[in-house]
Amino acid sequence: MKAITKQWSQKNVNPVWGCLGPEGKGNCWYCYAKASAKYANRHRKVRCKLCDEFVPHPHLDQLDMITPRQSPKIVFVDGHFDWNGVDVKKEWLVPIVEKMRECSQHTYPILSKRPEFYGQYQLSYPENVILGTTVTNEGPDTLPEMAEPFKAKVNMSLKDWGRIDVLRKFKGYRKAVSFEPLLGPLPEDASLEGMDWVIIGALSAGRKLIQPKKLWVKDIVERSQEVGASIFMKNNLREFKRLIQKYPA
Ligand code: SF4
Repeated sequence: MKAITKQWSQKNVNPVWGCLGPEGKGNCWYCYAKASAKYANRHRKVRCKLCDEFVPHPHLDQLDMITPRQSPKIVFVDGHFDWNGVDVKKEWLVPIVEKMRECSQHTYPILSKRPEFYGQYQLSYPENVILGTTVTNEGPDTLPEMAEPFKAKVNMSLKDWGRIDVLRKFKGYRKAVSFEPLLGPLPEDASLEGMDWVIIGALSAGRKLIQPKKLWVKDIVERSQEVGASIFMKNNLREFKRLIQKYPA
């Protein structure tokens, strides 16, 4: 299996690994990070039991991969955990934020399915951080027939869309929303107002890609353009000949 990366990021650094899912009750059924952690662990000299179990724990030595003299990049530091995840400790996040401040030439999008907790540790994020949330739009009415084999695994209690409304409340920061994997259309009255960056991607199910409907993607693109957000369409959106791949201003 190839290592799975977020291709919108230009550098991936993983100082914390593991996630218990948005509600602390188990991983999302499509979680790529868990598979990626297991894959990476297999190639370590000393295997980490906690990485295999995918429970939150630090590997802060990884922060050494970010240095002040590097050329500016989009650096993704929470590809293997949820920034506000259950059991993610303040003492792990503080050194990451310090590194972001020290290496200010980079831009650091961070993602969480629990955006309401961005304020929980009174962390003050530097300007080069983009606060983000992931919205897959899974729900009783939206899961497409293409994802039928996975239907039984979907947690219907998730209310993905509300995460954007929550994120919008964090004034003074650039904001991103990641529709990855995109599993349904936006609600008609949904607004992307206040978002600076919108990422759209398909569902990777093992080696198989499950494409979202073109109409859903086009709708998100149009609504992003209406509010002036930069758009990044991942290469795994195979039904599009031309992909918009812009980074936030
Ligand atoms: S929130 Fe993200 S990292 Fe956590 S289980 Fe879900 S997909 Fe995986």
